[in-house]
Amino acid sequence: MFWDTHLHCNFSGDSSADPEDMIRSAIEKNLDGICFTDHIDWDYPGPTPFSFDGEIYFNVLGALKEKYKKQLNIHIGVELGLQPHLKERYAAFVSQFDFDQVIGSSHVVHGFDPYYPEYYVGKTEDLAYREYFECVLENLDIFEDFDVYGHLDYVVRYGPNKNANYTYKKYQDIIDEILIKIIQKGKGIELNMSGYKYGLSHPNPTEEILLRYRELGGEILTLGADAHAPEHVAFDYCRLTGLLKKAGFRYYTVFEKRQAKMIRIP
Ligand SMILES: [Zn+2]
Ligand SMILES: [Zn+2]
Repeated sequence: MFWDTHLHCNFSGDSSADPEDMIRSAIEKNLDGICFTDHIDWDYPGPTPFSFDGEIYFNVLGALKEKYKKQLNIHIGVELGLQPHLKERYAAFVSQFDFDQVIGSSHVVHGFDPYYPEYYVGKTEDLAYREYFECVLENLDIFEDFDVYGHLDYVVRYGPNKNANYTYKKYQDIIDEILIKIIQKGKGIELNMSGYKYGLSHPNPTEEILLRYRELGGEILTLGADAHAPEHVAFDYCRLTGLLKKAGFRYYTVFEKRQAKMIRIP
């Protein structure tokens, strides 16, 4: 009844998962489908190379899609780490391949990944989190080549106090601006369950932001656990129906060949 359309395998620099193990895990969990969204983060400021060869990616995943077609719907997507100067390169890359879904994410903020403590040096938490959201806005003004914005409040996974002091209200001005811009562009957001895996007790973005997105007229909402290992596919999906209904959603979205399909929530 559900899809997990944000997951990684060993085509991502931070995963060693065999794609076939990810597929088997999804079948065991009775998912209707999955979408591989391996990382491309060109010009990533760190030792991990986040890139893959698109042709090999489609060959390997395409063969698995065929092999498992009777058991699971398998889509092929990508998660792009957006940085303003990459606009043309990413547009060229995306147009070269037949992706089902493109997630645009902010992993690098003005040259730093908030995953690392250096990002927070000399900044209050408020400034560090605001800078992250400002960076999302900058990317929204520049990029068209994505379908949904990934884990909208990713930064709160990694701040020194994580989400202990974080509320939607505190950043309402800028978060509303982001949500309105996403809706106006005809794009969507995702309900990323990995916040639970990181011990935040909330998804990314939080329940309040999902509710606000819906209030503002947002409809396109994909679902994903951002798994980098088979055991995390569809992580905490038992919470999904409750989360979606509470935020006022009757449908969720699956992208196929970049077209949004709305699926009724059971
Ligand atoms: Zn990500
Ligand atoms: Zn991811």
